[in-house]
Amino acid sequence: MSSITAATFDNVTLLAPLCPAWCACPEDHPGQHLDGDRIHLSATAEVDLTREPAVLDMPDCGGLTEHPRLRRAGVTLRQHYAAPAPHLVVDHGETALETFELTLDEAEQFARGLLELVRAARVG
Ligand SMILES: [Zn+2]
Repeated sequence: MSSITAATFDNVTLLAPLCPAWCACPEDHPGQHLDGDRIHLSATAEVDLTREPAVLDMPDCGGLTEHPRLRRAGVTLRQHYAAPAPHLVVDHGETALETFELTLDEAEQFARGLLELVRAARVG
Protein backbone atom coordinates (compact mmCIF):
# COMPACT_ATOMS: atom_id res chain seq x y z
CA MET A 1 0.00 0.00 0.00
CA SER A 2 1.26 3.47 -0.83
CA SER A 3 2.33 5.56 2.13
CA ILE A 4 2.49 9.01 0.59
CA THR A 5 1.50 11.46 3.27
CA ALA A 6 0.63 15.10 3.12
CA ALA A 7 3.98 15.91 4.73
CA THR A 8 5.83 13.88 2.10
CA PHE A 9 3.79 15.56 -0.62
CA ASP A 10 4.56 18.97 0.87
CA ASN A 11 8.27 18.19 1.05
CA VAL A 12 8.23 17.24 -2.62
CA THR A 13 6.27 20.32 -3.66
CA LEU A 14 8.59 22.58 -1.70
CA LEU A 15 11.62 21.49 -3.68
CA ALA A 16 12.63 24.24 -6.03
CA PRO A 17 12.81 23.15 -9.64
CA LEU A 18 16.27 23.34 -11.12
CA CYS A 19 16.12 26.00 -13.77
CA PRO A 20 17.64 25.43 -17.19
CA ALA A 21 20.14 28.08 -18.28
CA TRP A 22 17.54 29.75 -20.52
CA CYS A 23 14.98 30.28 -17.71
CA ALA A 24 14.45 34.01 -17.25
CA CYS A 25 12.45 33.78 -14.02
CA PRO A 26 14.14 31.42 -11.55
CA GLU A 27 13.08 33.60 -8.63
CA ASP A 28 9.40 33.26 -9.56
CA HIS A 29 8.87 29.55 -8.92
CA PRO A 30 11.07 28.01 -6.25
CA GLY A 31 8.99 26.78 -3.34
CA GLN A 32 5.66 27.60 -4.91
CA HIS A 33 2.73 25.20 -4.65
CA LEU A 34 0.77 26.33 -7.69
CA ASP A 35 1.33 24.34 -10.85
CA GLY A 36 1.67 27.52 -12.89
CA ASP A 37 4.61 28.58 -10.72
CA ARG A 38 6.56 25.50 -11.82
CA ILE A 39 6.94 26.51 -15.45
CA HIS A 40 10.27 27.67 -16.78
CA LEU A 41 9.98 30.59 -19.21
CA SER A 42 12.67 32.19 -21.34
CA ALA A 43 12.89 35.79 -22.33
CA THR A 44 10.63 36.47 -25.31
CA ALA A 45 12.22 37.11 -28.68
CA GLU A 46 10.00 39.73 -30.30
CA VAL A 47 9.59 41.27 -33.71
CA ASP A 48 7.59 44.39 -34.58
CA LEU A 49 4.92 43.69 -37.20
CA THR A 50 4.54 46.29 -39.92
CA ARG A 51 2.36 44.39 -42.39
CA GLU A 52 -0.65 43.47 -40.25
CA PRO A 53 -3.77 45.19 -41.57
CA ALA A 54 -5.81 47.44 -39.33
CA VAL A 55 -8.90 46.76 -41.45
CA LEU A 56 -9.75 43.30 -42.76
CA ASP A 57 -11.92 42.61 -45.79
CA MET A 58 -14.41 40.03 -44.53
CA PRO A 59 -17.27 39.75 -47.08
CA ASP A 60 -18.99 36.96 -45.11
CA CYS A 61 -19.23 39.29 -42.12
CA GLY A 62 -20.61 42.33 -43.92
CA GLY A 63 -17.55 43.75 -45.62
CA LEU A 64 -14.76 45.70 -44.01
CA THR A 65 -14.25 45.07 -40.33
CA GLU A 66 -12.11 47.07 -37.97
CA HIS A 67 -9.45 44.91 -36.42
CA PRO A 68 -7.04 45.89 -33.69
CA ARG A 69 -3.66 46.34 -35.29
CA LEU A 70 -1.16 43.71 -34.24
CA ARG A 71 2.11 45.36 -33.50
CA ARG A 72 4.33 42.49 -32.44
CA ALA A 73 4.90 38.75 -32.51
CA GLY A 74 6.98 36.86 -30.01
CA VAL A 75 8.38 33.46 -29.28
CA THR A 76 9.16 32.07 -25.84
CA LEU A 77 10.61 28.81 -24.57
CA ARG A 78 8.36 27.16 -22.00
CA GLN A 79 8.72 23.98 -19.96
CA HIS A 80 6.82 22.60 -17.01
CA TYR A 81 9.36 21.33 -14.51
CA ALA A 82 8.15 17.73 -14.96
CA ALA A 83 8.08 17.84 -18.79
CA PRO A 84 10.90 16.01 -20.59
CA ALA A 85 11.65 18.90 -22.98
CA PRO A 86 10.79 22.55 -23.54
CA HIS A 87 8.58 23.75 -26.37
CA LEU A 88 8.15 27.09 -28.09
CA VAL A 89 5.10 29.30 -27.72
CA VAL A 90 4.58 31.67 -30.62
CA ASP A 91 2.20 34.54 -29.91
CA HIS A 92 0.92 37.32 -32.08
CA GLY A 93 -1.55 39.05 -29.86
CA GLU A 94 -2.70 39.71 -26.36
CA THR A 95 -4.68 36.54 -25.54
CA ALA A 96 -3.93 32.83 -25.20
CA LEU A 97 -6.10 32.26 -28.30
CA GLU A 98 -3.49 34.05 -30.36
CA THR A 99 -0.72 31.53 -29.74
CA PHE A 100 0.50 28.26 -31.10
CA GLU A 101 3.04 25.84 -29.74
CA LEU A 102 5.87 23.96 -31.43
CA THR A 103 8.08 21.12 -30.29
CA LEU A 104 11.79 21.74 -30.78
CA ASP A 105 11.75 19.56 -33.92
CA GLU A 106 8.71 21.39 -35.30
CA ALA A 107 10.36 24.75 -34.56
CA GLU A 108 13.52 23.74 -36.44
CA GLN A 109 11.43 22.58 -39.41
CA PHE A 110 9.40 25.81 -39.34
CA ALA A 111 12.54 27.97 -39.07
CA ARG A 112 14.19 26.18 -42.01
CA GLY A 113 11.07 26.71 -44.13
CA LEU A 114 10.92 30.36 -43.15
CA LEU A 115 14.58 30.96 -44.01
CA GLU A 116 14.27 29.11 -47.33
CA LEU A 117 11.36 31.36 -48.32
CA VAL A 118 13.22 34.51 -47.24
CA ARG A 119 16.28 33.44 -49.27
CA ALA A 120 14.08 32.67 -52.30
CA ALA A 121 12.37 36.05 -52.05
CA ARG A 122 15.67 37.94 -51.71
CA VAL A 123 17.16 36.18 -54.73
CA GLY A 124 14.05 36.98 -56.74
ZN1 LIG B 1 12.98 28.22 -14.10
